[in-house]
Formats: sequence, structure tokens, C-alpha cells
Amino acid sequence: MTENKTDIKSMNEIELKTMLMEMGQPGFRSGQVYKWLHQGVKSFDEMTNIPAALRQKLVENCYISHAAIEKKLISAYDGTVKYLFSFADGETVESVVMKYHHGYTSCVSTQVGCKMGCDFCATGKSGFRRNLTASEILSQIQTEQQDNGIRISNIVLMGMGEPLDNYENVIRFLELVSSEHGLNIGMRHISLSTCGIVPRIYDLAEKKLQLTLSVSLHAPNDEIRSRTMPVNRKYPIGELLKACRYYAEKTGRRISFEYAMIDGVNDSDECARELAGRIRGMLAHVNLIPVNSVSGSDYRKSRGDRLKSFIQILERSGITATVRRTLGSDINASCGQLRSAAGNKKAKGEMVQ
Ligand code: SAH
Ligand code: SF4
Repeated sequence: MTENKTDIKSMNEIELKTMLMEMGQPGFRSGQVYKWLHQGVKSFDEMTNIPAALRQKLVENCYISHAAIEKKLISAYDGTVKYLFSFADGETVESVVMKYHHGYTSCVSTQVGCKMGCDFCATGKSGFRRNLTASEILSQIQTEQQDNGIRISNIVLMGMGEPLDNYENVIRFLELVSSEHGLNIGMRHISLSTCGIVPRIYDLAEKKLQLTLSVSLHAPNDEIRSRTMPVNRKYPIGELLKACRYYAEKTGRRISFEYAMIDGVNDSDECARELAGRIRGMLAHVNLIPVNSVSGSDYRKSRGDRLKSFIQILERSGITATVRRTLGSDINASCGQLRSAAGNKKAKGEMVQ
């Protein structure tokens, strides 16, 4: 269906203008088409102010990608909505909408699966299928807005996949979603989470975007980190933290370190002290997350007193730390779990579709 056709929703305004001018269209046409695409139309027929002949030409040459709802779960606790979306080729990804006091946040996927193979992650265990295009990342948010009748105000790139392993498409997505005639979601409302692809962190720093960089650290040293996160064997923690320091200095933005607390693996006082020693003095914040157990791994959440003690040690070293609020815990809201839970038997939330 999409073979040899142009992915029109991944085009920025300049590229769209060039293509439409080459089709003999007046300059103002691209603005109209861009607006329709970013309002989330699924077909060219819906573009009612576009001449029929042009619509026909667009049908022949282009396609509009769309995230179709395959499954949907609503948390009975907090209204978090989790989706399994499918794309034109039948590949599926997960995405979650969460309600906070400041509005709705969408957690989007950037790849179908992931190559990084982190030991505690359901997505990592499912292998890698392909990268998502910019329009496929955007479409997740569009479908969520339409399905819930809401406006998403914040985005976290923390769904399935490693965003910096799909760098070009992710940068393009950021350009589209923050564009004035698109969803116009400012960079300050966007967080990008990475397991630590060091060269791409330097590339991103050069762009000086005002987004929040979240770094999935999850361990204070190479020994523990290489055991749970294979990427650390390629980019050890020292190199990663050097890149983070550079990023913070270059952009003036505070780095958010994600640290999943795993019982008996990385949650000792010694680990807290080691972590504090490594990131002291850096423009940073630590987000502790009690690890979610996933099938196929024995990891369990740390006990509550471990979290308290860990935070205290960090704070005594002048490092701010918080425990991330867990939303949608009844619907396996951590990404990768819905796609891999065959038939969603494990999920207790309301199954809608
Ligand atoms: N690939 C990127 C972004 C997607 S993962 C990354 O790794 O940062 C989003 C976040 O969920 C990461 O911080 C990841 O480490 C974390 N995560 C994955 N599996 C988890 C689990 N079982 N429990 C808690 N956090 C998990
Ligand atoms: Fe990939 Fe992130 Fe999961 Fe690691 S935690 S396997 S990088 S999605």
C-alpha cells in the first residue's frame, strides 16, 4: 500500500512546499496541506479546501501514515490509557497517555522493539523489528488526542525503542511536533530518554534543543551496569557521564538520571555513595523508579526502606532525587509489556478493544 510512495506526514514545511510547487501548485498550498496533516486527517479526501485533481495526484504519489488502535487498556486506578498501535505493515508498538495536574503526557515509542537488550526491559527482550518514521511517532500522539478528545501538552520518548538509535527520524519528529503549524508542543515540554549512545549525545548537544535529556543509568559502576545493560560494554559509564556533563554545559539543561531500583542488584548504600561521587557537581537530578518485574527476568522491586536510604545519601551529597510516581500499574504501563503479554492475560485494567 505504501510501497514507493512518499511519506508525506514526515515532510517538514519546506520539503512539502518544494514538492507541491514541483506539482505546479501555488505557494500557499503547502500551508493548507501541512495543517490538514497535523490535524490528523487519515485520507486526502478529508482535505476539503484542496482541489480534487491535486488530491488525486497526492493519493497516487503519497501516503498518510496512521497509528490504528489494536488494543486499549484504561487503568482503574488513575485513568492512564495504554494503547497498542499498528501501522500499515502490521507492526505494532505501545504508547501511554498519563494525566498529571499540568495536563496530559504521552509516552511514545520510537522503534518496533529495541536492539539494546537491557536485562530488566520487556522491549529489550522482544528483539528489534524496525525503526519508526517521524510520522509514525507523531501519529501515536494524534490518535491519542482524537480518541480521548484531549490536547497532549507533554511528550516523553520513553516507550519502546532507543530514540538515539533512530536519530534522524527522531530529530525530524521533534521538528514536526514542535512546529508552529503542527502540534506546536514546545521543546521544554519534551523529554528524550536514552540508554546512553554516547556519540549521539554529543550530536544532540550541538543542536542545543531545550528538551530534557533523561539518561537511563540504573547502576553506579561498569561492573553492575554491564551486567544489566549491554550498551555499557560499548559505551562505559565514565564516557557516558563525560558526555552528559558536556550536554549539560552546552545546553544549560539539567540531565535527568533514571535509576530503576532492583532488589539486591543496585540498591545498596554503597551504590548510592558511588553514584553520588560520580555525579556530584553536575547539573542533574536523579529519578528513582522501583523496577517493574517483567516475565523472563528475576528482578524484583527494592524495599521501601532502600529507596529512602538511597535518596538520603544522594541528598546529603547535594543531589536532588525523587521517586517517580507509578501510573497505570494495573495495566502493565511499562512499555513492552502489553505487546509481549500474549492476549493481555496479565493486565487487570479495563480491556476496551
Ligand atoms: N530506550 C530508552 C527509552 C525507552 S525505555 C531508554 O532506555 O532510556 C524508558 C525507561 O524505562 C528507561 O529509563 C528504561 O530503563 C526504563 N525501564 C525499562 N524496563 C523497566 C522496568 N522493568 N522497570 C522500570 N523501568 C524500566
Ligand atoms: Fe531498549 Fe530502553 Fe528497553 Fe534498554 S531499556 S532495551 S534501551 S527500550
